[in-house]
Amino acid sequence: MSAFDWLVVGAGFCGATFAERAAAHGHQVLVIDARKHVGGNAFDEIDDHRILVHPYGPHIFHTNSTKVWHHLSQFMEAVRTSGAGAG
Ligand SMILES: Cc1cc2nc3c(=O)[nH]c(=O)nc-3n(C[C@H](O)[C@H](O)[C@H](O)COP(=O)(O)OP(=O)(O)OC[C@H]3O[C@@H](n4cnc5c(N)ncnc54)[C@H](O)[C@@H]3O)c2cc1C
Repeated sequence: MSAFDWLVVGAGFCGATFAERAAAHGHQVLVIDARKHVGGNAFDEIDDHRILVHPYGPHIFHTNSTKVWHHLSQFMEAVRTSGAGAG
């Protein structure tokens, strides 16, 4: 018998969102990814020169939902480009 309820292959938006929601509802989830990081193609990181780089291409997140914004803000730090707080 497995110790996990779910095996999620891929820790991009899709897999990570499913895994977080399942875990939040008490399920045991194992997430695996071929890459060494979470975030899939939206992953970014600070390099050795302290520059934010986007190895798979830059991403812009759009939403007009306060609920979505607050939920995702638990897991990410976004740089606003427009709207309240931009600049
Ligand atoms: C250059 C570029 C710019 C983009 N810009 C935007 C943007 O500005 N705004 C926006 O909303 N969207 C943008 N997108 C789209 C966005 O990246 C995707 O919609 C989103 O990443 C899809 O998430 P996903 O979880 O479905 O897949 P992915 O992000 O592709 O994640 C899938 C993960 O699964 C892993 N995986 C796959 N197969 C296996 C396997 N067999 N075993 C183990 N691991 C596996 C991969 O390593 C990967 O980490 C952009 C995409 C690209 C390429």
